Amino acid sequence: MTASIAELDARFVWHPFTQQQTAPAPLEIVRGEREWLYTADGRALVDLTASWWVNIHGHAHPHIAAAISRQASELEHVLFAGCTHGPAARLAGQLVARAPAGLARVFYSDNGSTSVEVAIKMALQYWQSCGMARRGRLIAFEGGYHGDTVGCMSVGAASGFYDRFRKILFPVDFVPFPETDLTGVGVVEREAASLAAIRALAAAGPADEAIAAILIEPLVQGAAGMRMCRPEFLRALRGLADELGCLLIFDEVMTGFGRTGQFLAAQRACVRPDLLCLSKGITGGFMPLAATVVSGQIYEAFLGTGLDAAFLHGHSYTANPLACAAALASLELFELEGTLQRVAELEAYYLAQAAGLGGCENVKSVRVLGGIFALEFCAADGGYRSQLGGWLRERFLAAGLLVRPLGNTLYFMPPFCISRANLDRAFETLQGCLAG
Ligand SMILES: *Cc1c(COP(=O)(O)O)cnc(C)c1O
Repeated sequence: MTASIAELDARFVWHPFTQQQTAPAPLEIVRGEREWLYTADGRALVDLTASWWVNIHGHAHPHIAAAISRQASELEHVLFAGCTHGPAARLAGQLVARAPAGLARVFYSDNGSTSVEVAIKMALQYWQSCGMARRGRLIAFEGGYHGDTVGCMSVGAASGFYDRFRKILFPVDFVPFPETDLTGVGVVEREAASLAAIRALAAAGPADEAIAAILIEPLVQGAAGMRMCRPEFLRALRGLADELGCLLIFDEVMTGFGRTGQFLAAQRACVRPDLLCLSKGITGGFMPLAATVVSGQIYEAFLGTGLDAAFLHGHSYTANPLACAAALASLELFELEGTLQRVAELEAYYLAQAAGLGGCENVKSVRVLGGIFALEFCAADGGYRSQLGGWLRERFLAAGLLVRPLGNTLYFMPPFCISRANLDRAFETLQGCLAG
C-alpha cells in the first residue's frame, strides 16, 4: 500500500518556523482558486494570509498559470551571466517604469532574503567604489524583519529571533521604529526620537566610519506584527539620509505590489529610496523571484574595465524565465482587474470595520493600511510565542478561515480578489473572538 501524503509528510518533511514535535498536523491543501484553499478532507478555507504574503490576485489565477505554461514549453531556464531573455528584459523595463523616478536598474535574485543581501552588499561596495571604504556602518530598525540568511539576520537582529546566532552576525546599529495606529497618539514624539537616535549614532564613532545605509521596511514592519509608521516619518528619514550623505534602502518584500494601497509603499509615502528590495508579490505568488532595484548613480559606481569593480554575486536561478513570465502576467492583471482600485475598496472596508473595534476591551491597537488589517490584543504574555495565536487560529479554522497570528496580533492580508461575504465572515469571527 502506498503511504498517504500525511504519512509521507510526517516521516520525511521538516516545516519552516515549526516545532515539529508539538505542531498540529499540517493542513493538506490540494487545490486553490481565488481566495480559497481546498483541503484533502474536503474543506474550503479562505486564505487570509495570502499564503505568507505572496499572493495578490488569487490562487491558481488562469492568466498567470497560462503565462507560465507557455513559457515552460519555450524556455524554462538559462544561466543569466552572458545570456538574457525576453521575460527578464521586459520585466526589468516594467519594474523600472513602475518604480519611483531615479531607480534605473534591476538585479534579479530568487527570494526576499537574497534581495536584501544583494542590497546590503551593493551599498557597501558602492562606497568602496566611491573611495570611502570606511563608510560601512548600517542602521536598521528595532523589530525589523528582513529574512533568515546571515546578513538578513544581522540587520534583523533586534527582533530577538536570532540570539542563538549572535556570534556570526555582523554589527548593525538599531533605532526605535516609530510605531503608530489609527489613534496616532504620541507618534510625533516617537518619530522625533527615532530621528534623534540616528543623528546620535551618526555623531558617535570615528568621523570616517560613517553610515553606509539606513534600511527600513517602509510603512509596515510585517513580521514584527504589522507595525505601521507614517509616511511623514519616511519623508523625514529621506531628508536625514540626504543630510548624512548615506543611502536609503527600502525593503518592500512585503509592502510591494499593491499591499499598502499604491503599487509600492515608496509611492504611498512619496519617497524615493536609493535601493528597493522586491519579492513575495512580484509573481502574484506563483514562483520564487526577487529584484533589487537601484538608482543609476549606484549602478554607475560598479562600471569599469575590470571584474573587480563589478558586482560579483549571482544565484543559479537568477531571473528564472518562468518566474519572470509569471511576474509580467501578474503586472498585466493590475490593469486588467483594476487591482489598486480593489485594494482601495479593501482599505475603506477595513476602516469602516475598525471604527467599531478600537474601543473594545482586550483591543490594544487597530492598524489599517491598504490590504492590511491588524488588531493587537491586550495579553499578559506578549511576543511571538504567545498562546493567543494558537487559540485564534483554531477559532478561525472552525469558521473556515485560515489565519496565522503574529503573537498577540491578528492580521488579515487576503488576496485582493476576496469577496465581501468572506470579509464579513472574517470580521464576524473576530467579533466572536473578542466576545470571548
Ligand atoms: C518575507 C520577508 C523577507 C524575506 O523574504 P523570503 O522570501 O522569505 O526570504 C524580507 N523582508 C521582508 C520585509 C519580508 O516580509
